[in-house]
Amino acid sequence: MTDQRIYVDNAATTAVSDIAFNAMLPYFRDSFGNPSATHSYGTQAKSAVEESRKTIATCLGARVNEIYFTSGGTESDNWALMSSVALRQKGRHLITTEIEHSAVYKTAQYLEKKGYEVTFLPVDRYGLVSPEQLEEAIREDTILVSIMTANNEIGTIQPIRELCAVAKKHRVLFHTDAVQAAGHIPIYVGELGVDMLSISSHKFHGPKGIGALYINIRTVLPPMVIGGGQEKGKRSGTLNVSGIVGMAAALGDASSRMDEIVGKTTAMRDMLTTEILKMPGVQLTGHPENRVPGIASFIFSGISGEPLIAALNEAGICASAGSACSAGSGEPSRILKALGLTQMENAAPLRLSISEYNTPEQMNQIIAALPAALKRAAAERVVPKYINLDDY
Ligand code: PLP
Repeated sequence: MTDQRIYVDNAATTAVSDIAFNAMLPYFRDSFGNPSATHSYGTQAKSAVEESRKTIATCLGARVNEIYFTSGGTESDNWALMSSVALRQKGRHLITTEIEHSAVYKTAQYLEKKGYEVTFLPVDRYGLVSPEQLEEAIREDTILVSIMTANNEIGTIQPIRELCAVAKKHRVLFHTDAVQAAGHIPIYVGELGVDMLSISSHKFHGPKGIGALYINIRTVLPPMVIGGGQEKGKRSGTLNVSGIVGMAAALGDASSRMDEIVGKTTAMRDMLTTEILKMPGVQLTGHPENRVPGIASFIFSGISGEPLIAALNEAGICASAGSACSAGSGEPSRILKALGLTQMENAAPLRLSISEYNTPEQMNQIIAALPAALKRAAAERVVPKYINLDDY
């Protein structure tokens, strides 16, 4: 029997594509060698890793020796922040935003506890940061700016090139978390001008537990993981060969069909947005145009988040809720708060994140099922315990 459920949580993770899956298979059992070994099993694995590095570099417009493999977006983000501060002696000030993923946000908070000063830039009601704001926040002692390319909850795309130009003018390092952007919109590091950029394979139909950090050739970062000296001594540990091969296959595929994928997902996202915005008590969250093709995000007033997701789940629709209040704390969600949506009591955020594997028929099914799910959720009188979208 085929799976009848509708999966619209692709910003959390995606299914591995056939292309990535088939590319990975030989590296589990036939060509299982350790790429550090000098015999033929080793060299076979090494050449697969280096081919993959080339593919990823090409997709991002980077040089081959600027791509470092990591275990995913979280590690890449941690590396960028932790090592930048270790590198720069001139100051103790960092700049990021109020709407970063926890991988950046909590690392910045950790550094704050360690004595660094962090400016968390506010965003406008669409989730945008302006170059002027960044210009004002930069100080003599600023060592790093980290601003995400696209937000995981509301999909807003930041003007990274313009923001980066401001940082460069002041000779400040610039990192961007492009985890929700890579494989979804064109990303070329040279055009953006960034020093570091994080990607994660499982967000673009590659396997989980593998990602990369682009580090510009002129930026010499201290190592993230110390040990056997892999990745030019910067990130030790036996390489995840099958994961690397799968990630490269998935990103290569997405990059070669970018227009087609963007066209398909944008059309489905717009179907959802147009129809859902006709429903009562609903608002779009994030920027109406500057957003990644696959994320449609809303907030419904007078409704609790968890019952809405549960009702949708019972209808066979797998979506995500953000939080108007973070779990148990009574505090409003950081992202919604940053957008100025704190006044809405009992408001249910809903993120429908689409991939090319979805269909327009599924969008119609969601549109048809949503009113009943909203009605059920409105009738619930439980104090919601939210899944915090911030973590996906
Ligand atoms: N950054 C953003 C914007 C994300 O959406 C995520 C994943 O949810 C991450 C970082 C973390 O990536 P990973 O799951 O590969 O650690």
